[in-house]
Amino acid sequence: MNNHYDYLVVGAGLYGSVFAHEAKKAGKSVLVIDKRPNIAGNVFTEDIEGIHVHKYGAHIFHTNNKKVWNYITQFAEFNRFTNSPVANYHGELYSLPFNMYTFNKMWGVVTPEEAEAKIEEQKREAGITEPKNLEEQAISLVGKDIFEKLIKGYTEKQWGRDCKDLPAFIIKRLPVRLTFDNNYFNALYQGIPVGGYTQMVANMLDGVEVRLEEDYLEKKAEYDALADKVIYTGPIDAYFGYSMGYLEYRSVRFETELLDKPNFQGNAAVNYTDRETPWTRIIEHKWFEFGRDAEGNDLPKTVISREYSSEWKPGDEPYYPVNDEKNGALYEKYKELAQAEKHVVFGGRLGEYKYYDMDAVIASALDMCEKELA
Ligand code: UDP
Repeated sequence: MNNHYDYLVVGAGLYGSVFAHEAKKAGKSVLVIDKRPNIAGNVFTEDIEGIHVHKYGAHIFHTNNKKVWNYITQFAEFNRFTNSPVANYHGELYSLPFNMYTFNKMWGVVTPEEAEAKIEEQKREAGITEPKNLEEQAISLVGKDIFEKLIKGYTEKQWGRDCKDLPAFIIKRLPVRLTFDNNYFNALYQGIPVGGYTQMVANMLDGVEVRLEEDYLEKKAEYDALADKVIYTGPIDAYFGYSMGYLEYRSVRFETELLDKPNFQGNAAVNYTDRETPWTRIIEHKWFEFGRDAEGNDLPKTVISREYSSEWKPGDEPYYPVNDEKNGALYEKYKELAQAEKHVVFGGRLGEYKYYDMDAVIASALDMCEKELA
């Protein structure tokens, strides 16, 4: 390990790969390392029987940011997939996100006025004026019935916490519409990269030196000696040896099965919103690409993944930062330490301890590139 690089990028996920691409383009020498055996971080897709399996959880690219869309489409063509998950509450099926189809099924209402009146009535009964937590926010957006059947159980499984102890912003990710529109995202641009996310990230990293199964924190001094500057996209608390305490994350375990049938659930995502079903959702990966292979042939088999959410403990993969007040305060302390590390930039979902979507990660990486590579 004796080459000298301008930049060492720790983590070959989206943040690191955007930076590596831009740095190379700017004429800098870059080395990317990742402790996993694969590039692409949590957007990694693995080919099973011609199906791109989202190994670290389903990712649907969506954005309103034209700059980000123009950027990412340099590396892949996107299909026209629109995310429309179905909620399964003890066998009753509802459309998501919350829209006229959901309200009709829940209450029998037919017009937007009737739906609005029903939500208003339930909101009034609950007596909430200023929502202080996820439960109050949810009830004031969609009323008590939807909260009870479609939000409470799912959220408590997903976060391992009572809805009263979670921040309101989490539920604001979901649109509420008085139209018949099952599109989960309010985004102008949406889709799945044709060829899979791994290929897209490989295109970003084209010509960049990448070393896999390299654990930066295990040999930090050696790696630091390799480059002038480090772009670190791992967990910020791990970087500092958890010296101020552990930030909380949610981890996810996937049970993936290859089934000898063409269609298991008829949709990419079905959310199990009751408390009793142990998994939060089942992803049927082929529907992200319309159940067809690259030549347009129907695929005879299918791959499904059941998702189980758990509290992160050392050794697990961290997925979701738990952005509540307690963790926010601890993160601020780590951020102070991070600011004193002049040769290191901390970025991405884990480096900034932030529940980022893919487009926001790319936007944040591009902003950083503008400063860093100017
Ligand atoms: N959520 C819910 N019911 C659902 C789907 C989502 O209550 O059927 C809530 C839940 O609290 C979840 C949040 O909305 O954590 C955000 O959901 P999203 O689908 O955006 O989460 P992600 O896909 O990032 O896991």
